[in-house]
Amino acid sequence: MKEEHTPVKLSESHVTGTVHPIPLVDLLWQHRHVSGEVIRRWEAVAETADFILGEDVLEFERAYSAFAGVRHCAGVASGTDALELALRAGGVGAGDEVIVPTNSFIASAAAVVRAGATPVFVDVDPIYLLIDPTKVAGAVTAKTAAVVAVHLFGQMAPMTELRSAVGERMLLIEDAAQAHGASQDGIGPGGFGLAAATSFYPGKNLGAYGDAGAVLTDDDGIAERTLRLRDHGSSTKYEHPELGFNCRLDTLQAVVLREKLRFLAAWNGQRRRAADVYDDLLQDVPDIQTPKVVPGNEHVWHLYVVRVPNRDRVLGRLRDVGIGAGVHYPIPIHMQGAFRFLGHEKGDFPVAERSCEEILSLPIYPGIDVDQQLRVVEELRRALG
Ligand SMILES: *Cc1c(COP(=O)(O)O)cnc(C)c1O
Repeated sequence: MKEEHTPVKLSESHVTGTVHPIPLVDLLWQHRHVSGEVIRRWEAVAETADFILGEDVLEFERAYSAFAGVRHCAGVASGTDALELALRAGGVGAGDEVIVPTNSFIASAAAVVRAGATPVFVDVDPIYLLIDPTKVAGAVTAKTAAVVAVHLFGQMAPMTELRSAVGERMLLIEDAAQAHGASQDGIGPGGFGLAAATSFYPGKNLGAYGDAGAVLTDDDGIAERTLRLRDHGSSTKYEHPELGFNCRLDTLQAVVLREKLRFLAAWNGQRRRAADVYDDLLQDVPDIQTPKVVPGNEHVWHLYVVRVPNRDRVLGRLRDVGIGAGVHYPIPIHMQGAFRFLGHEKGDFPVAERSCEEILSLPIYPGIDVDQQLRVVEELRRALG
């Protein structure tokens, strides 16, 4: 273990022995790369009072659309806002149904409700745990207006199959909150669907120092409407042709994002190498399933999710020795109390439900070193035994 590693806070009783804990994600390592420039430019923003939709927002939007290979990037206040605005900009609203995979962060479905529509859940495939295109067709009704393709864990959902399942009448909207820099057959989020929503929550592959997000699209009309909706329904000051929201990307966050974006490709490369190391080290560990990559996908490893028997026991043992493992996600969205009104029961989406009991996210982040990964695997082997 390197001495410079920053321990995460754990209660005394959770730390046995003297080794440093290994966190699920290490944001301080990233901060060290950008702190000088971020603070210098924050001062510049303060001195010009360029707080709302400042120059840094425009510059970041330009830089991120170039990085993502889409024509437009509209910065907003969170990933959830981005998904809601993408749906609204596409005309989705009251009376509409939107198909969403049940294995995702709750925001994928909450944004649908916020847009005024009703989520219709579908199961995921048993290998990649991504939205299953063969289940989508069965969920379509006359009211279906859109499908949300969630690019979970850092790899893209099968977009060609989804496109065929969705047809021309319905919109395909991408939830790319975990897929900064991912691609499928060379095309990234926003290149398949009408729009992609992404999040810059601090722990994402590109993370701000607070909440932030963006809508990515090649469609001029969607871009224009998103820019209006994020700013009180206005594109000319004090003229409001429609009602919108106040969910602009903050200038101070845009400063952080501009700076971190310069490192994103390299940091994704480090995640990829770390995933390769885990793949190698875990090869001969019995009872463990390592994550698989969809053919044609460039995975950016937001999370490295294995499947193990007796997951809760394994998770507890790892945490006891200071390994910051996690579960993404322990409860499928259709079983969340917030969606009880849809009337789902256990057994409705068996693949997602079963996977929730087996999945385990191992520490992965730019800056993780092989010694740390060796220790994670050694402790995992012990926890499984
Ligand atoms: C993080 C995340 C979101 C929501 O983003 P926020 O910025 O937290 O609002 C939506 N979908 C997925 C899959 C996410 O991981």
